[in-house]
This record gives sequence, C-alpha cells and structure tokens, in this order.
Amino acid sequence: MQNVLVAEELRRTYGEVVALDGVSLSVDRGEVFALIGPNGAGKTTLVRALTGTTDPDAGRASVLGAAPADVDRSRIALLPQSFSPPGRLTARELLRYYAGLYERSRPIEEVLEEVGMAEDADAWYETLSGGQQRRVCVGTALVNDPEVLFLDEPTTGIDPAGRRDIRSLIDDLAAGGTTVLLTTHDMNEAEALADRVGLLADGRLVETGSPADLVREHGGESRLVVETDAGTDALAGSGYRVSADDARLVVHGIGPEAIGDAVAALERADVEYESLTWTQPGLEDVYLALAGERSAGPRARAAPAGETR
Ligand code: ATP
Repeated sequence: MQNVLVAEELRRTYGEVVALDGVSLSVDRGEVFALIGPNGAGKTTLVRALTGTTDPDAGRASVLGAAPADVDRSRIALLPQSFSPPGRLTARELLRYYAGLYERSRPIEEVLEEVGMAEDADAWYETLSGGQQRRVCVGTALVNDPEVLFLDEPTTGIDPAGRRDIRSLIDDLAAGGTTVLLTTHDMNEAEALADRVGLLADGRLVETGSPADLVREHGGESRLVVETDAGTDALAGSGYRVSADDARLVVHGIGPEAIGDAVAALERADVEYESLTWTQPGLEDVYLALAGERSAGPRARAAPAGETR
C-alpha cells in the first residue's frame, strides 16, 4: 500500500536553531500517528513541512504521492496550533466560510454536531470559551472531508468530555480511512488514539512504535506505591526491590498477581500506611524515560532516594 505521508531525512533550521535534524517517517492510509515530545522538539515544524507551509532545507516529503506544496488542498486539512479566526463571526458563519473555499463540502450542520457546537452555533466566536473556540477550529478542518488530517494539538483547552468526543471523532474518521497526524502533550490521548506514536526530541525522531510496544520496551515495571514514612529498611531482606522518598515506599516489579503477597509482607513488617496504589507503566513513563530530562521546567523525574533488594 502506498504511504500517504512520507518524510525522508527532513532538516529545517531557523538561524542557529535546528528544528528538524533528519526526520524520516511514513504513515499509512487510515493510520493515526501521534507526535509527542517536549516544547520546542520540532513537532509543529514537522507538521508544517508536511503541509507545505514551511520549506525544509534538506530532505524530501510527500503527501498522497505529491510534494506537500503541490497536493490538492481539497484532499487535506490542517488545524494549526494557533488559529485565530475573526471574532465577529458565529461558529456557523465560520464553518460556512471555510466550506465555501472548496468545490465540494460537507453539510455545516453535520460538522457542528460532530464537534459539539450545534447549540452554540450562532454565538460570536469571540464570546465562546477557549474550549468551544477550539472545537469550532477542529470543525473548520473537517468541512472538506479530508483524506489526510493534520491536527496540531487539537484538544488543548477542551474539557474532558469534549476531549473524549474529539477522540471518538478522530477514531471514527480513521476507521473510515482518513489518515491523521496529530501532535499532543497529553500522553493519555496519544495512548488512547494513536496506532503509532513518534517521540521527537531536539529535532530527531527518537523512537517510533505502537503505544503498547513503546510501553513494553521503555515504560519500566509495574509497581506498588505505598504512602508511608517507613523507609526501605522496613522491607530489607524481604526479597522485594524497594525505593523510598519522604512520603512513599515503592515496591518495584509487582505484577497484579503479586499485589496480595506484597501487601502481606508490608503487614508482617508492621508498616503503617495511608494508601496503596498499584500502577502500570504507560506512555508517560516512556516519555519521561526517553525525553524527560530534555523538558523545560520541573518535569525531570526525581531520582529515588535509595533502592535496596
Ligand atoms: P511546542 O510543543 O512548544 O509546540 P514544537 O515541538 O512544536 O513545540 P516547534 O514549534 O516545531 O516545536 O519549534 C522547534 C524549534 O524551532 C524551536 O526551538 C522553535 O523556537 C524554533 N522555531 C520554530 N518556528 C520558528 C520560526 N518561525 N522562527 C524561528 N524559530 C522557529
């Protein structure tokens, strides 16, 4: 099957900044591909290079078999990260305007319904909440029934129920054969939606794979987190691998079948605790393992205070 999206060794610099440093990628028809990565990793630049809104310095990209700038615009749609339509138009007028840019378009009412804006369709854009505005923006990318949909942080600012609606909308579109490339900082969203995830860091695609494969490979182990001020000594000699910080004891490598035994060991050791939480690794753990230290701000994972066996 022909790859709908292809990037080969894409490179894009802005002065001294290397936004893309040799990115290669291919996405099949009907696939949902999520780009994740720290701020400034190059996600938006990659979306722009694939949609022909920026020219790479080197490398090659194609969309539906054509160079991005030459693709028939009615076959693709882009929801940019920042998108500010005129405030004194209503949601319905905005969608009508965007639909008017194409020879053939979908019924506006249907799109309003899909993005959950049917009831507020006649309010001025500027009076809508941030999340409602984002829904309308998502709607503008759907009016031409695109074969390829680029969504740069589609659900930012949308409330949980709205996110769920947009996710199920994206699922339905992909099931109908639409190819979706999206960027997100929401690891749950990437895990729930994407067939494959690509982690970009410093302009390079560090890892690509299905969420399950990435979690298996890089997510680490399941663990039991015990809210207690008992230190690791409490379980010394028990055979468990344990680490601790001020308020928590973490018992590592505990599968669901081993929770009971671990709790019994805590009881035997007279450990007093406030709560027990069993956690499985997820995409967030993968992100932190592979890109955590590159994040701006206090994102880096604190090292465990000590680990004993
Ligand atoms: P975020 O998660 O914050 O949206 P991102 O992964 O989308 O980040 P990009 O917007 O692609 O990152 O930016 C990658 C790098 O390129 C950053 O260092 C950014 O400052 C730089 N950059 C992007 N666009 C431009 C531009 N038009 N002019 C100068 N530098 C730019």
